[in-house]
Amino acid sequence: MQRVIVVGAGVIGLTCAVRLLEAGHRVDVLARDLPLETTSSVAAALWYPYRALPQDKVTAWARTSYAVLSRIAAPSDLGGDPESGVRMLPGTEVFAAPTGDPWWLPAVPSLDRTLDLPDGYRDGWAFTSPTADMPVYLAWLAGRVAELGGTITRLNLSALPVGRGPVVNCAGLGSRLLGADRSVVPVQGQVVYVEQVGLDRWWLDGSGPTYVVPRGHDVVVGGTDVEGEWSRTPSPEVASQILARAARLVPELRGARVLRHKVGLRPVRPAVRLERIGDVVHCYGHGGAGVTLSWGCADDVVSLLS
Ligand SMILES: Cc1cc2nc3c(=O)[nH]c(=O)nc-3n(C[C@H](O)[C@H](O)[C@H](O)COP(=O)(O)OP(=O)(O)OC[C@H]3O[C@@H](n4cnc5c(N)ncnc54)[C@H](O)[C@@H]3O)c2cc1C
Repeated sequence: MQRVIVVGAGVIGLTCAVRLLEAGHRVDVLARDLPLETTSSVAAALWYPYRALPQDKVTAWARTSYAVLSRIAAPSDLGGDPESGVRMLPGTEVFAAPTGDPWWLPAVPSLDRTLDLPDGYRDGWAFTSPTADMPVYLAWLAGRVAELGGTITRLNLSALPVGRGPVVNCAGLGSRLLGADRSVVPVQGQVVYVEQVGLDRWWLDGSGPTYVVPRGHDVVVGGTDVEGEWSRTPSPEVASQILARAARLVPELRGARVLRHKVGLRPVRPAVRLERIGDVVHCYGHGGAGVTLSWGCADDVVSLLS
């Protein structure tokens, strides 16, 4: 067992840190942004393989993560933790035209075609998916790191700290610098948080994209998908468009009180990079699916270091 430095304290860095600690390594996480300041804290966060490739690996990572997240979401007498912010929620993805099965179908235990669709939609499928209230879940992951003896330190690095043992690069978009990788680009996503209006299922129309993910006290309503845009300033016009699209999908949202706005930059890459080069394991470029792929990728990172 060795000392491993994990760079990045988003969902990928923290999940890798947990799995490495569980495998018996000593782990120190170094990050410019602490968990609640990361892109990960903005995620909706629905288990759903979105804007991440390649399909075969993404399906396998997503399948593993589905299983782990559903265990975490289980009641405490079944080994879950109600304080984790993760819960299983039924929901529906809708389409304007008849659609074939999703390529990631093997990653979900079951998925049913449904005709119970909002106006204007002609196809859809329903399945139960893990969802995470990210500020709560990231704090829970950070707590696991601490419980297992790991540390998290704020540090803005100008290069990966190589030369003192293995390093796991989970810097997301920061890998443009730390991994000298210009192929990872921002895909901006804006979300609006509105008051809970009694919703107990998620909805997704990928064409907007438009999504509605209820949490305990509020509802995350999205979204946008703007490639190459670096701004993290929410736009009031875009927020109005998001709310109008969402209200067409879920009419109960009409008139819901807006609580706040956020923008995050998804780290999109032609393919997720998960490989070992010497003492460095790169694990970044999870696009719109970092939560969805986190546990599967963390297992592979541990394998690359054993
Ligand atoms: C609006 C929106 C909605 C989303 N919804 C979902 C969803 O429903 N489901 C889902 O699975 N995913 C979703 N995502 C995608 C998900 O948020 C990302 O895939 C995920 O956050 C990537 O995690 P990460 O840990 O790789 O990166 P980040 O969370 O960005 O963390 C990167 C870490 O690296 C650190 N770092 C970077 N550069 C340096 C440096 N030079 N020195 C030190 N540290 C550095 C950062 O400070 C940070 O700690 C969504 C994203 C957005 C924006």
